[in-house]
Amino acid sequence: MDEIQIDSFRQQLLELRSELINLSSTSDDAAKPVELDQSAVGRLSRMDAMRAQGMAIEAKGRREDQLLRIEGALRRIAAGDYGVCLTCGEEINIRRLEVDPTYTQCIMCADK
Ligand SMILES: [Zn+2]
Repeated sequence: MDEIQIDSFRQQLLELRSELINLSSTSDDAAKPVELDQSAVGRLSRMDAMRAQGMAIEAKGRREDQLLRIEGALRRIAAGDYGVCLTCGEEINIRRLEVDPTYTQCIMCADK
């Protein structure tokens, strides 16, 4: 991979990261504990609220995972070993990185 390609992956990763950070600042409210105010909220809608909260927490977890992977990819770019399979040390196919620039394994190792 040449520097131009690595740089375009870096841009992509930085954009992804800022999108995720913006998202989490707007949707964190939904992951807050459900108010157990029986007078204001009926039993059914309280269950809906708890289900929505569960989904929000799950989505938050996925965003945090993805952020960690993005940080890892950016660190590897800075260290100069981006695009190298962490398992076997071979270059990861660029088409695979175009699908997800945070991949850390080549297709052979990921398949195992
Ligand atoms: Zn590999």
